[in-house]
Amino acid sequence: MLYTSTRNADIKVTASEAIIQGLSEDGGLFVPEKLPEITTAEIESLGKMQYHERAFTILQKFLGDFSDTEIQSAVKSAYGRNFSVPDVTQIKKLSADCFVLELFHGPTCAFKDMALQLLPYLMLISAEKCTSVQGKRIAILTATSGDTGKAALEGFKDVPGTSVTVFYPEDGVSEMQKRQMTTQQGANVRVCAVKGNFDDCQNGVKEIFTSGRTDGELAAELQKKNMVFSSANSINWGRLAPQIVYYISAYASLLESGEIKTGEKVNICVPTGNFGNILAAYYAKQMGLPVNKLICASNSNNVLTDFIKTGVYDRQREFYTTVSPSMDILISSNLERLIYQYHLSPNPDEKCNSLQEWFAALKTQGRYEVNERVKAKIERDFYGGWCNESDTAATIKAVFEKHAYLIDPHTAVAFKIYDEYKAASNDDCKTIIVSTANPYKFCGAVYRSLGKEPEQDEFMTAQKLEWLTNTRMPDPLFRTQGLPVRFSDSVEKGEMKKAVIEIIRSL
Ligand SMILES: *Cc1c(COP(=O)(O)O)cnc(C)c1O
Repeated sequence: MLYTSTRNADIKVTASEAIIQGLSEDGGLFVPEKLPEITTAEIESLGKMQYHERAFTILQKFLGDFSDTEIQSAVKSAYGRNFSVPDVTQIKKLSADCFVLELFHGPTCAFKDMALQLLPYLMLISAEKCTSVQGKRIAILTATSGDTGKAALEGFKDVPGTSVTVFYPEDGVSEMQKRQMTTQQGANVRVCAVKGNFDDCQNGVKEIFTSGRTDGELAAELQKKNMVFSSANSINWGRLAPQIVYYISAYASLLESGEIKTGEKVNICVPTGNFGNILAAYYAKQMGLPVNKLICASNSNNVLTDFIKTGVYDRQREFYTTVSPSMDILISSNLERLIYQYHLSPNPDEKCNSLQEWFAALKTQGRYEVNERVKAKIERDFYGGWCNESDTAATIKAVFEKHAYLIDPHTAVAFKIYDEYKAASNDDCKTIIVSTANPYKFCGAVYRSLGKEPEQDEFMTAQKLEWLTNTRMPDPLFRTQGLPVRFSDSVEKGEMKKAVIEIIRSL
């Protein structure tokens, strides 16, 4: 199976090339030329398998130039003891028609581990296959809204032949998220704060990427060090493919336990920022998973809600820093992949032309509007809603009081929009709500939601939260308490490239 670019149908690369390059050279994103299918029988057969075997079954459909042995060894290494529950993910039944898919049992306590524990293996295997990078070191550049950074650092730390640099918005992450990143161990890692928001970090990284290919100084430094850039953000196909796995896997588990019947449709509700996680659910649906609605839940940065309702994407609006910082995003990169999929037409050139126009308009005017055909398809598949700060807090409290179940602010946004959807529709399909982070990553906000005033010290708050809710702070977070802060650099948003050049020199 080959991959093409959302902006140029003439580009055709293998899976390994797509993973190594991260972003296509025309600025587009890599997408499968044709989505593979999964049959009912296949989905049923997953029920008896362990998570890594399920991952193998699904990923081999996407990784055309990987051997079975390569995929098997990668998924076995990624989905093992580094997750704190035996099944890697966990499903909690909250009521007869509502299930929570917990994706935060990896080493950094957020769903990003689901892909970033695997990506380093995929990247190393890919590097061996691509003649353009053989023998070169891979410099991973990552912009983070809080969780990707830590998960990338943890995934790539001390992986031979790689280095990883993370840029995060200085005032845009939780205390615990910052602590997790700035105390990161490993010889090949760098962490740098940016005086700006996540969009600034993401734009900076995208630009550094492009200039790594064209810009004199940066390209020369890379060459001197025998390095190439790649990305651990969800613009990389190697991030998305592993995320498709857990949707199909969750469905198979519900089938296996008798909660749903063969072929029964479910809704999937996802707290969304960069549109990566929910896009993976959409791909699962397109492959054949019985999905009814995809419920896209946003926080006050509600650009996606408006887009789903009107077909107009307009990022010219105020940027809010919220208690769900990993969703504080106004440029949802992966939406481009969804629009590509909807816009597929018999004439491939026609398809790419308006995509180019739309995304050029986003860059120059901060806005684009899709055509009626795309709008209609979005309306058919998606429901969009957004949740403000006080409703987020109220939802954490209400869910805890009703179910004795503690959720993080991102997951709370999803719960709120699920309720809203249920009230607004006559839909009685069962729903899977995706839980993306452990509440202790945001313990200040969570504690405050329960009506208490947080302590100055994050760990003190965490302890009080433990007493109050009879829950436990996960070990990986607890352990950061004793670690020294290794990274305290902070740069202006215009200085990211300079910082990268210095980092490359130091590696
Ligand atoms: C990254 C993240 C999200 C948003 O996921 P996208 O793939 O960017 O839509 C939601 N919740 C948490 C906790 C995250 O870390």
